[in-house]
Order: sequence, then C-alpha cells, then structure tokens
Amino acid sequence: MNEKQLLEQAQINPVQSTDNISEQENVERIKKMSSDEMITKYFQTSYQPPDLKKARKRRREEVQFHYDFTIPEDMQEIGRGKKFLIRTYGCQMNEHDTEVMAGILTEMGYESTTETNEADLILLNTCAIRENAENKVFGEIGHLKPLKVEKPDLILGVCGCMSQEESVVDRIMKKHQHIDLVFGTHNIHRLPHLVKDAMFGKAQVVEVWSKEGDIIENLPKVRNGKIKAWVNIMYGCDKFCTYCIVPMTRGKERSRRPEDIIQEVRGLAAQGYQEITLLGQNVNAYGKDFEDLDYQFGDLMDDIHKIDIPRVRFTTSHPRDFDDHLIEVLSKGGNLLDHIHLPVQSGSNEVLKRMNRKYTREDYLELVRKIREAIPNATLTTDIIVGFPNETEEQFEETMTLVEEVGFEAAYTFIYSPREGTPAAKKKDDVPEEVKKQRLYRLNALVNKQSAASMKSYEGKTVKVLVEGESKKDPNVLAGYTEKSKLVNFVGPKSAIGKIVDVKITETKTWSLNGVMVENMVEVK
Ligand code: SAM
Ligand code: SF4
Repeated sequence: MNEKQLLEQAQINPVQSTDNISEQENVERIKKMSSDEMITKYFQTSYQPPDLKKARKRRREEVQFHYDFTIPEDMQEIGRGKKFLIRTYGCQMNEHDTEVMAGILTEMGYESTTETNEADLILLNTCAIRENAENKVFGEIGHLKPLKVEKPDLILGVCGCMSQEESVVDRIMKKHQHIDLVFGTHNIHRLPHLVKDAMFGKAQVVEVWSKEGDIIENLPKVRNGKIKAWVNIMYGCDKFCTYCIVPMTRGKERSRRPEDIIQEVRGLAAQGYQEITLLGQNVNAYGKDFEDLDYQFGDLMDDIHKIDIPRVRFTTSHPRDFDDHLIEVLSKGGNLLDHIHLPVQSGSNEVLKRMNRKYTREDYLELVRKIREAIPNATLTTDIIVGFPNETEEQFEETMTLVEEVGFEAAYTFIYSPREGTPAAKKKDDVPEEVKKQRLYRLNALVNKQSAASMKSYEGKTVKVLVEGESKKDPNVLAGYTEKSKLVNFVGPKSAIGKIVDVKITETKTWSLNGVMVENMVEVK
C-alpha cells in the first residue's frame, strides 16, 4: 500500500506535511483559523466517529501484508543526540506497541530515557478501556504543560487506543494545544513522518485512520528485557461485546501469517528468551480470517510446541472460540503452560446475553470441565465486570457462585465503565455506584480467599521459577514466576536471573510465595 492509498483511508487527514507547505504559509494558515474551525474542518471533511454498524460490516479481504517498512534516509538521523520517553498505559498489546515505537525511534537515532526532564520526545501510549484510564492520561497531559512551556522544542505526543476516539481527539485539539502529535493504533509505522511533521510544522499533527486492514511485518522492536517476550499473533477484535471499545480502537480481527509468527518465535528462542506470550484480543479466533488456509490457533500452538523455547503463554482467550483441538494440543504440555486465562465477565446468563458474550454460564462450565478433564492440573484465572447496567443482586450472586464453582485462582475485577460509542453506554442504569463498589469489594474478598487457598497448597513444595530479577522491595531477594504465574520471592545468587530454577516454598501469602533455591548455583562474578 502506498502513501496515497494510506491517506485515502484516513479518518483524520494529517496536517499538510511540511514537505508541501512552507513554514511561513503554515503559520499564517493556523493563525487565521480558530481551533474550533480546525476541528470542524477535520471532522466534517474526513473524520468518522466510531460507528458500530459500519464496524460490524467491515470486510476481511482487505488485509494486506507488508514486509517493506523502511525509515526514509532523511529521518534516519533526525533523533541523533536526542532522547525519547514512552509512557505506557493499559494492556500487554500496548506494552508491545511501545516496544515497536521504541524500535522505530532508536532507528531514527534517538536514545531512550526514563527521566521526563531529559526527554526531547514524550509519547503517551494510552488505554481507552475504562474512564479512569483516560482520566489518568488527561492528568498527565496537564502535568506536561509547564515542561513544554519551559522547553518549546520538546515534542509531546498522544497515541494508542484513546487517540482512536473522536471525543478524545476533539478535547486535545480544543483544550491541549501543547500536544504536538496525536496518532492512532493503525499509524505506528508512520511515526518517522509524524515526528518530522511535528518537529518542523507549526500546527498540531493529527493522524488517525479507521483503515485497519494491513499488517506490517518488519517493524523494528526494542524488547523490554532478554528473558520474556511478547509476540503478536493477531490484531483487532470482531466480538463486539456491548461494553467494550476495543473493536473500535483496534479494528477488525486480522491474523499474522503462521510462517511469520514461527520465524519470530524461532528467532527469540535462538536469542535465549525463556518465555513468550502470544498476544491477541481474542487469540482463539486466530486464523479464522484466512481465506487460503485452514490453520487455526490449535495448529499454531502445535507448531510452537515443537520450538525449543521453555515457556509459551497466550492471552486473551474468549470462551466462545476455545475449541476441542486447542484443548487437545494444550494437553500435550511441554512448553505449553497449564495456566489458562479465560475471561468470563459474569456468571448470569441474562447479563452475558446483554453483554453479547455469546455463551451461557452452562457453556462456560462445560468448557472448564473439558479443560480440566484433558489438563487435570490446569489453573484458571479470569476477568469479571461488576455493575453492568441494571445488574441485579441475584445476577451478581450468580457471578459469585460461578467464581466458587470454577475455583479461579486469580481474577482481574472491574466496575463497569460506560464507553462512548458502545451499545451498553446508551442503556439507562439503575444500579447506584455505592452498590457497584460493594459488589466489587465482596467479589475481591472471595477471589483473595481463593487465591490464598491455592497459594497455601504450595507450602513445602518445590516449584520451577523463571527468575526475572531482583525483588523491587529488597535487592538481595530474587523474584520470578512459576509456570502457573505465581510470583515467588527467594534468596539466591544473581547468576540465577534469566534461568529457570527450583525453589522450595517456605511461606505462602495471598498473592505471592516465599522460598529458598534448592540447588545452590555458583555465582559468576
Ligand atoms: N479480549 C479480552 C476478552 O474478551 O476477555 C479482554 C480485553 S479487555 C482489554 C480486558 C478486560 O477489560 C475485559 O476482559 C473486561 O473485563 C474489561 N473491560 C472491557 N471493557 C470494559 C468496560 N467498559 N468497563 C469495565 N471493564 C471493561
Ligand atoms: Fe472487548 Fe474482548 Fe469482547 Fe473483544 S472479546 S469486544 S476485546 S471484551
């Protein structure tokens, strides 16, 4: 896809590039335009806000694969002597996008920093999943203003899921003119051009595309560490749960080709990585969009099972697409770990229906039964939303009984947060906030109890721990995770970092385990 085609699919066209307009012309143009006029101009001519009906009709055949990403010569040195900082909010997908942006900026000559005051370019990689995630970002945008006033050449950018929302772009353009750059989740590969425009242009650079059909394979990455790595296997989501903004911010489901994923995993194995996590909003839908290939998530896991990398995880699974073939492959074990994160969201059939989850409580329990039958030691964790519009006390109780029945060992629990553009946000909601908080409190107490009980069962046992580094609280203590994602703190030699070692558990807590390393390794100085 060329530049012109890319622009044709733009939701918001970028401010005219500095290649085509002189700086003076640009300044004059902006001076003549109020910010209201600018917004009207962008939004009337080319911007389409999230449109659920349209999103549901999006077509599959438009997916194209690109292997030709390059940084134009004039941008390869543009960051020389300068530093960047990317602040990441939200899920693993965002963390991995940050690794890609860091890779691109590094190839442009930038160095990374963690010091806000040292940075010449700051990007906020945002999350739109709940309102408080958005509030945090707007707080940070406000905090950065004095720095921009002090350092006018500092480039401030907002990217990630929030940038895909009309109301957010609107608010930034109207109220936060100190932000130089806004770009969406489909525009990451355009970063070199956007940074250049922001550097030399005088207007806010805004580039947000609704076109989400393409996969760009050869983007550079600077991975965070040498022990664990994220691997995207697919992008987007077509499930349209009624509370969720993701299908609008991340676009339609589109899978990477298996050969590209396998090559990436082999590369990571060769570099000595000990663990990979396959990423997608709904990994079980992997491959369903291939028109020329009958190859799904179970097939991919079977192929990755043969690669010599010690640990393979995946997230997130949607119960609806979790098929028997996948269960059969997972039951082979080996590097396929027996911790399955399987978001249920609610235990009430009525609520599940209104959430458009497309499974019932009974379907979910049957899936759990099949998983346990094939993988008897499987650990299950989940995501739950409380206070979905008009959730009754009885419906909430059904969630509580489901949590007990399945015996989840951990859960991410959330109070429902209305998201503009989603069907649930249009519903009148008669559940008071205080009741929602109480329900969350009760649910968390139950989850904590179950987590503590599962931890207790490890007392005196020896577990395999992938050692990630020193504990944040005490540098003399090492920390890592078991195959079932339990955090373990233990005393051991620094040479164990990056390795999988045996640790005997001496003390259990609600969310972590303490222990001692079984074999004493010789520390290499
Ligand atoms: N694709 C995954 C799935 O279907 O489970 C999860 C993706 S989402 C980033 C992570 C979790 O955020 C969801 O499982 C859900 O529990 C929660 N979530 C999504 N939208 C929400 C909303 N509007 N309010 C509260 N929680 C929400
Ligand atoms: Fe959101 Fe997950 Fe549902 Fe997709 S499957 S709409 S990402 S909650």
